[in-house]
Amino acid sequence: MKQTDLARDEQTIQAFMSGAGRPIRTLALLFRGHVWELLGSVFFFTLKHSPTWIIPIVTANIINLVTTGAPNTPAMILWNMAALAVVLVLNIPLNYVHTWLYAKVVRQIECDLRGALVRKLQQLSISYYSRTQSGRLQSKIIRDVEQVQTLSAQIFISVLSILTGLLVSFAVVILRSRTVFLFFVCTVPAAVLLVVLFKNRIQEDNRIFRQEVEETSARVMEMVEMIPVTRAHAQENRETRRMERQLFRVAQKGLRLDMVQTYFGSISWVIFQVFQVLCLGFTAWMAFGGHIGIGDITLYQTYFSSIVGQIANLVALIPIISKGLESVTSIGDVLREQDVEDNRKKPPIPPVEGGLDFEHVEFAYGDSKEPVLRDFSLSVKPGETIAFVGGSGSGKTTLINLAIGFLHPQKGRVCVDGHDLAGVDLTSYRKYLSVVPQQSVLFSGTIRENITYGSRDVSDEALWEVIRATNLEDVIKKLPNGLDTRITEHGSNLSGGQKQRVAIARALVRDPKIIVLDEATSALDVASERKIQDALQTLTKGRTTLIVAHRLSTIRNADRIAVVGEGGLLECGSYEELMEKKGAFYQMQTLQG
Ligand code: ADP
Repeated sequence: MKQTDLARDEQTIQAFMSGAGRPIRTLALLFRGHVWELLGSVFFFTLKHSPTWIIPIVTANIINLVTTGAPNTPAMILWNMAALAVVLVLNIPLNYVHTWLYAKVVRQIECDLRGALVRKLQQLSISYYSRTQSGRLQSKIIRDVEQVQTLSAQIFISVLSILTGLLVSFAVVILRSRTVFLFFVCTVPAAVLLVVLFKNRIQEDNRIFRQEVEETSARVMEMVEMIPVTRAHAQENRETRRMERQLFRVAQKGLRLDMVQTYFGSISWVIFQVFQVLCLGFTAWMAFGGHIGIGDITLYQTYFSSIVGQIANLVALIPIISKGLESVTSIGDVLREQDVEDNRKKPPIPPVEGGLDFEHVEFAYGDSKEPVLRDFSLSVKPGETIAFVGGSGSGKTTLINLAIGFLHPQKGRVCVDGHDLAGVDLTSYRKYLSVVPQQSVLFSGTIRENITYGSRDVSDEALWEVIRATNLEDVIKKLPNGLDTRITEHGSNLSGGQKQRVAIARALVRDPKIIVLDEATSALDVASERKIQDALQTLTKGRTTLIVAHRLSTIRNADRIAVVGEGGLLECGSYEELMEKKGAFYQMQTLQG
C-alpha cells in the first residue's frame, strides 16, 4: 500500500471526472491501475474455490461406482477421496493469497478516496463551506467510503464466487447433458426479470435513505455545537424532540428500504425453489428413462441448487451494490465540485508591500439578486490602518473576505500592490497575510502549537515578544506546563478573551504585511482591550491593517475610517475629519454615545 500523495489524489479525482455520473465506470477507472493484482486474485480464487465444484463430481462418481458395482470400486473410491482431500487442504494457502491480493487493492482505493476527499476539502472555496454542513461532508468521508469499500470487497468475494460458480456449473452440465443444460438456462431470464423489476425501486429508496442519513449526521453535529446555547435557554426537550423526529424519519425510510428488499428476496427465493423441485423431477425422469446415471441426479441437483443459490446470492447482493454505487455518486458530488480555489498555473505574487485597492467592486451572494456591494472603490496605502464601520449587514465582512481572496467580485477588481487577486496564486499572497477572525478557532494542541500555527521557525524570542504584546505572559506562566500546556477541544480551558489573544498572537507571530482583524477584540474586557489596543498599535505599525470594529477605541487609532453602507462607501476619512463633517459617521457616534 502507498500513502496518498498529490498525484494519486489527482488520479482519483480524475476517475470521478471521467466517470461523470456513471458510478460503475467510475469504479472501473478507480481499479484501472491494479489489473494484475486483481487478475491474480481471480486466478487464486478459482483454484481455492475448486472443491465446491469437485465435490459434486466426486459424489456422483462414487454413487455411480457403487451402483454399477465395477471390480476396482474400492480403489477408485479411495482415489476420488484422496483427490478431494488434496484440493480441500490447498484451500487455506490459496484463500490467503487470493484475499491478500484483492484486499490490498480495495484498502488502497479506500485510502485513496479519503485522501482525495480530504485534499478536495482543502481546495473547495470558502463559499462552498458556507452552504454545506460539515456533518454531511463527514458522512461522505466516513460512511460513503465505507460503503464503496464494502461494495468493492463484495465484488471480490461474492460476485467472483457467484460468477465462477455459475460458469463452472453451466460448463459441467453442458458437457454432461445438453437437455439438462437447456432446462438450467430457463432460470436465467426469470432472474433477470426479477432484477429489472426491482432495481429502480431499490435504487431510489437507497438514495432517499442515504440523504436522510447525511441530514441526520449534519443535524447531530449542529446539535452538539448548539448544546451550550440549548442548555442556557432550557431548550433540551425541544432539541431532543426535533432530533427524534429526524431519527424517526431515518428509521421510516430505512424500514421502507428493508421491506422492499425483503419482498424482493422472498419472491426470488420462492421462484428459485420451484425451479429446483422441477429440476429434481426432470432429472429423475431422465434417469428413469436411462438417459443419465443415478448418481447424476445428485450431481445435477447439487449444481442446480448451486446455480439457484448463486443467482439468489447475486440478487441478495443488489441492495449492497446499489448502496455502494449510490455512495460513489455521493462522493462524486464533492470530488466533481467546481467551486474550488484554483491556484494552479497562476503565478505567485511578488513580495507584498501591502497596498490594497478595491476598484469598482460589485459583489452579490450566490442566489441573491441584490448585490451587497455596488461599484465600491477604496484605496489603502501600504502600512495604513483602516477601520470599516457601518450598520450590521452593510457588507464589512464581505469586504474583508474579498481582501483575503475568499470571495471574488463579479465586477471590478481587488488588487494587492496593483496585482489583481484573480490572477495570482492566492496561497502565495496569504503568506503575507494574517487574519484574526470573529470567532477564535483553536485546535487541540499546545498553546505554542496554536500560536505558531502556519509559521515556520519562530524563535522563542519572537514568540515571547508577541506573547508579552498580547498580554498572555501572565496567563501562560500560570498554566501547569506553560507554553506546552495542551488546549482542550475548542480551547475550553481558556476564557473567551484569552482565546482571542491567542488568535491575535497567532496572527502577529507570522510577521504579516497585511493584518485583518474582524471585530477581534470584542470578547475582551475593557482593561485587557486597552492593553491589547496599545500593543496592536505598536505591532501593526508598518503593516496594512484592516479592522472591522464597533468600538470607539479601535476606530480612534485608525488612520482612516471607511463608512460602508447602501452597497458603497458613504464616507472615508480620519476620525476628526468625519466628526467635523457631521455626516453618517457623526450620527453613528452620537447614537453610540
Ligand atoms: P457586516 O459584516 O457588515 O455585518 P456582511 O458582509 O456579513 O455584513 O453581510 C452583508 C450582507 O450579505 C448581509 O445582508 C448578509 O445577510 C449577506 N450575507 C452575508 N454572508 C452571506 C452568505 N454566505 N450568503 C448569502 N448572503 C450573505
